[in-house]
Amino acid sequence: HGKGLGKNTYQYFTAQMNIAVKRRMTLESALRRAVMQKDFVLHYQPQVNLETGEIIALEALVRWKTEDSGTVMPGDFIPLAEETGLINEIGEWVLREGCRQAREWQDQGLAPRRMAINLSARQFSDKAFLDMVTRVLADTRLDPSLLELEITESQVMRQTEGMIMLLNRLSEMGIHLAIDDFGTGYSSLSYLKRLPIQKLKIDQSFIRDITVDPNDTAIVVAIINMAKSLDLETIAEGVETAGQLALLRSKGCRIGQGFYFSAPVRAEQIYPLLRQNNLYVQSQVR
Ligand code: C2E
Ligand code: MG
Ligand code: MG
Ligand code: MG
Repeated sequence: HGKGLGKNTYQYFTAQMNIAVKRRMTLESALRRAVMQKDFVLHYQPQVNLETGEIIALEALVRWKTEDSGTVMPGDFIPLAEETGLINEIGEWVLREGCRQAREWQDQGLAPRRMAINLSARQFSDKAFLDMVTRVLADTRLDPSLLELEITESQVMRQTEGMIMLLNRLSEMGIHLAIDDFGTGYSSLSYLKRLPIQKLKIDQSFIRDITVDPNDTAIVVAIINMAKSLDLETIAEGVETAGQLALLRSKGCRIGQGFYFSAPVRAEQIYPLLRQNNLYVQSQVR
C-alpha cells in the first residue's frame, strides 16, 4: 500500500516539476525573443533635492512589454535574465537607451540631470563591460559625470579584487557610483571607505515606517550621519508621504525618491516635470 502511495507521490512531483520546467523554458524563450526584438521600455523616476525641490537625477527602471501578459516588472524577469546571461544584452540596451534619452533631453535645452542605471553582478564579471560602457558613452556623447551606476549592497559585499579594480576604473572615467538597497546587507564601514562611491541609497524598507517605528528612525539617522562623515551623499528610497519627507529633511537627508514625488513614468510623462524644475518646492514641499 505504502509503496503505491510513494509511487503516486513521485509521479505527482514529477508532473509538478515538468510544469515548472516547461514554464521556465517558455519564459526563457520568450525573454530571448524580447531581447532580439528589444521589447523593453525604460521608465524614469526623479531623485529630488529635499531642500530646493529640484530634480537632480533620474533613475531608469526597465519594463518588458509583452503582447499577452502586458507589462512585466523587473522583479519578474531580471532574476531569469541573470541566470541565463541575457542580462548582459538587456543591460547594454538599458544603458544605451538611458544615456541616449539623457543626451536627448540635454539637446532639447533641459538642464542636465544625472541618469542612474541599475547593474547586476553578472554584468560586472563580463570582461567586455568596461569597453561596452566606454563605447555607449562615446556613441551617445553623454558626459560620463552625468552617468551614475547603481550596484546593490549585497553585490558589493561579495566584492573581489577584480570588482574593486573595475569600480576604480569607472570612477576614473568620471562615472558616479551609488550603492543601492543600502542597509539590507550588513556591510561594514571599513570597506565602504575603500570603494570609490559617491552615494548611499537607503533601502525603502527603512523608510516605510520611519515616522512610527523608532528603530527605523534610529537606523536611518545612523546611516545619514555615517555617510556624512565618509563624505557620501544619502538618498532615501520609497518616500511616499509628507510625514516621511518632513522627518527625513529634519534629519539632514538631502535627496529623496518615491511615489510622493513621482512614480516611475515614461519619458514623455517626465518631460514636463523636468521643464518646471521647482515643482516640489512650490506645490508640495513648502
Ligand atoms: P531598485 O533599483 O531599488 O528600484 C526601486 C524600486 O522601488 C522600483 O521598482 C520602483 O518602482 C520602486 N519604488 C519607487 N518609489 C517607490 C515608493 O515610493 N514606494 C514603493 N513601494 N516602491 C517604490 P521596480 O521598477 O519594480 O524595480 C525593482 C528592482 O528591479 C529595482 O530595485 C532594481 O533592483 C531592479 N531593476 C530595475 N531596472 C533594472 C535594470 O535595468 N537592470 C537591472 N540589473 N536591474 C533593474
Ligand atoms: Mg536602483
Ligand atoms: Mg533600491
Ligand atoms: Mg532593489
